[in-house]
Amino acid sequence: MATIELINVEKKFGEFNAVKPMNLTINNGEFVVLLGPSGCGKTTSLRMISGLEAVTGGQILLDGRDVTWAHPSDRDIAFVFQFFALYSHMTVRQNISFPLQAQHETKDTIRQRVAEVAQLLRIENVLDAHPSSLSGGDQQRVALARALVRRPAAFLMDEPLGALDAEFRETMRAEIKRLHIEQHATTVYVTHDQIEAMAMGDRIVVMSAAEVQQVGTPAQVYHNPANLFVARFIGSPGMNLIPGQYAQGVFNIPDCGPYAVPAEWQPALNKAINGEGKVVLGFRPEAVTVSAQGEVPATVYATDLHGGYTMLHMDLCNNQLVHARTTRETQYKINTPVRFDLNPSMVRFFHPDTEKAIVREVTA
Ligand code: ATP
Repeated sequence: MATIELINVEKKFGEFNAVKPMNLTINNGEFVVLLGPSGCGKTTSLRMISGLEAVTGGQILLDGRDVTWAHPSDRDIAFVFQFFALYSHMTVRQNISFPLQAQHETKDTIRQRVAEVAQLLRIENVLDAHPSSLSGGDQQRVALARALVRRPAAFLMDEPLGALDAEFRETMRAEIKRLHIEQHATTVYVTHDQIEAMAMGDRIVVMSAAEVQQVGTPAQVYHNPANLFVARFIGSPGMNLIPGQYAQGVFNIPDCGPYAVPAEWQPALNKAINGEGKVVLGFRPEAVTVSAQGEVPATVYATDLHGGYTMLHMDLCNNQLVHARTTRETQYKINTPVRFDLNPSMVRFFHPDTEKAIVREVTA
């Protein structure tokens, strides 16, 4: 197991910044997810950690050892790709044994370690089959087994579930998480799927446009996004974000009406806001309670049934949609007027120019 430290690590392709200087410490035994839209630099970051891509600046430490210029094979890190990359002419057993043979392990050690890892991944019954005869899920289990069997200090996984259909993804997601809990191996996992990141990560590194936007636990990036990008990107749908103006304890939604800002937010807003008082109000769909006595008026725009709950989409008076998570039993007719309240503890504010979250000082 290992600690991985990135110190101002960057990658330029010519003049193009693929990864801007990045600082990150991945703790021993931690499962860290690099999350972001296509092209934001996730894979390049992972490839730099593995040594497959040379850095153009900064330093990479593995357990305190500078491996910035070490060959991939000298880093004791295993890489699992989206594409299975199994040897088709070999059986599953031969595929899994291969890394151990390359390390000149004895036959007994190889037999024992292959049996252990096959049991862990529940592929004992396919050890003598060829990869092409297996389902996508089993092929990915074999690829994982081949990575695990080496017992590397750390695992790097690049969208390992990307090629699987939805049902297998769910199963494999749970299996990778279970494996991690059992083996406690330091893991860096790349995905563009925020649901996968939330489900799997001890911490999530949210990236956009070659830059780290926020590093935090799933709960931190969900409840306290550092900026508007994270607020929009995390959650399905993302955070409700309503631009407006703040003055003297009241947030005015343009062409709509006032919302009384919870008292605990007022000192922070008074300090952060100047000039026209422009600010963005943010809240998650589950912060909304619809009731006849609600403070803010809106009109029902549409509803989606999700089995366990209903997502109610409401139109504020200025054509701004608000998404609210309501009970499965509630039914709303399109175009009917409704009113809603916000749970004061789930309200957030952002600066419209810097796009950064306004931070409230919490007194003990
Ligand atoms: P995806 O999810 O689509 O794989 P990503 O977040 O992993 O995206 P990267 O693959 O790291 O993104 O790519 C980051 C940026 O660097 C992209 O704009 C990509 O086109 C560019 N890039 C990657 N490799 C090279 C290369 N060898 N030469 C030039 N540009 C590259």
